[in-house]
Amino acid sequence: MPEALRNYIDGVWKVPDRSGALPRPDPATGAALAEVPLSTAAEVDRAVRAARAAFPSWRAVPVAERARLLAAGRERLLGDEEAIVLEITRENGKTLDEARGSFLRGLEALEFALSAPTLVQGSALANVSRGVDTQLLREPVGVVVGITPFNFPAMIPMWMAPLALACGNTFVLKPSERTPGTAVRLVERLSEAGLPRGVLNLVHGARETVEALVDHDGVDAVAFVGSAPVAREVYARGAAAGKRVLALAGAKNHLVVLPDAALGPTVEAIVSSAYGHAGERCLAASVVLAVEPVGDELVRRLSERVGAVRVGPGDLEGTEMGPLIRAEHAARVSDEVRRAEGEGAVRAAVGPAPAGTGGFFLPPTLLDRVRPEMAIAREEVFGPVLCVVRVRSLDEALEVANRSRFGNAAAIFTRDGRAAREFSHRIEAGMVGVNVGVPAPAAYFPFVGWKGSVFGDLAATGRPAVEFYTRPKTVISRWFPP
Ligand code: NAD
Repeated sequence: MPEALRNYIDGVWKVPDRSGALPRPDPATGAALAEVPLSTAAEVDRAVRAARAAFPSWRAVPVAERARLLAAGRERLLGDEEAIVLEITRENGKTLDEARGSFLRGLEALEFALSAPTLVQGSALANVSRGVDTQLLREPVGVVVGITPFNFPAMIPMWMAPLALACGNTFVLKPSERTPGTAVRLVERLSEAGLPRGVLNLVHGARETVEALVDHDGVDAVAFVGSAPVAREVYARGAAAGKRVLALAGAKNHLVVLPDAALGPTVEAIVSSAYGHAGERCLAASVVLAVEPVGDELVRRLSERVGAVRVGPGDLEGTEMGPLIRAEHAARVSDEVRRAEGEGAVRAAVGPAPAGTGGFFLPPTLLDRVRPEMAIAREEVFGPVLCVVRVRSLDEALEVANRSRFGNAAAIFTRDGRAAREFSHRIEAGMVGVNVGVPAPAAYFPFVGWKGSVFGDLAATGRPAVEFYTRPKTVISRWFPP
């Protein structure tokens, strides 16, 4: 049996006190990887106390020095890039190219954090009243906890930890229990760069570990990314305990195709958005709104392409789509496809899928004649399934998309600038693509959805994230004559 993963608390790596452990299968083969300890509340308490104890001296480190330590961490991460990319593919299943791309997107967030000496600057106004000056400072919040999902094991922890640390907070990371190995490597490399002990900590676990962290009196802020029900729960629980919480949640992304779209590149962009990462991406295309008369031709071209998607282990040269994260998740996605067919959806295309490997593979599936009221058109599927809903106009497409309770991302494909502008203005989503299937903002811009795709204000990246990891202090001063 492979050994258990270790926690990192107060500068020490150690297999923790635990209430149990979870198996961690390689999604491409089912083979057992090192199991994941379920850290106890006492272990969580140790991590939070270590972060609390480290906070006063860490916030006193000049911001440029904090940034320099993170810059050294960046070099170590880059030096370990190959191993990190392999680990992402091994525990998550995505292809090596996808793993590398997501690692580099995470690195971009770290690079943004290196500008902390500029980002955390406040402002001042002299003489707000005669002889009175006002200074606005941005100070760290304290101990920040980061709780992350399985689908971006490097990128999402890197959205959080570097910026939180650069702003002067100390940090406890609780990675997904399904993909925790990457987080171990990230924390190893960052801590080797010379972070003082207790500044960055890592605890493994699942629901109970999260609850112990969110309830802990010593935690000031919680950054969460995951599914909608859990995001809602973590947000409510943290807010009730008086903490600052930002919880990014699930998605149901609509892509509108107008009859004038350039169909060749449009089909490539849609296929890559829907089936890349096996559909396990919060920006994945889920529903295509085909504005008639484009429906038949679009479905014909999509079907051809879906039938040719190369499905296989993520580390095999030429693979375009890897396995799903777990067997139960793959079974749930298959059930949802069957249910949609029962409600009248038509399987327009089913791609290939390897059999007998022990891995959790599903064929890429295209469903046509889906109606907006079907469950598959409303709920997040998080698998390689794309639904086509046919509509008569851009107005109707907007009406269908805006009825969704989610509002993470949306896109339009067209050659008509005026239609694209109209769509961008009226769509209720936080991230919008114009002829772009995965509208993921670079880390210097805010990554955040609208409506049920987020609980809390601000955003996971960019300047709003700096606001999340700092709190304003206003100093009003005057000086009496001698
Ligand atoms: P998840 O909600 O199952 O898990 C996320 C984290 O919450 C994990 O660390 C997990 O240990 C913890 N957790 C799970 N159940 C819990 C519970 N009952 N109480 C407390 N904590 C719990 O999410 P996932 O399956 O790992 O990730 C996929 C989901 O994340 C999808 O819904 C996807 O849309 C979403 N996501 C959203 C974004 C975004 O930016 N909006 C980005 C990536 C993923």
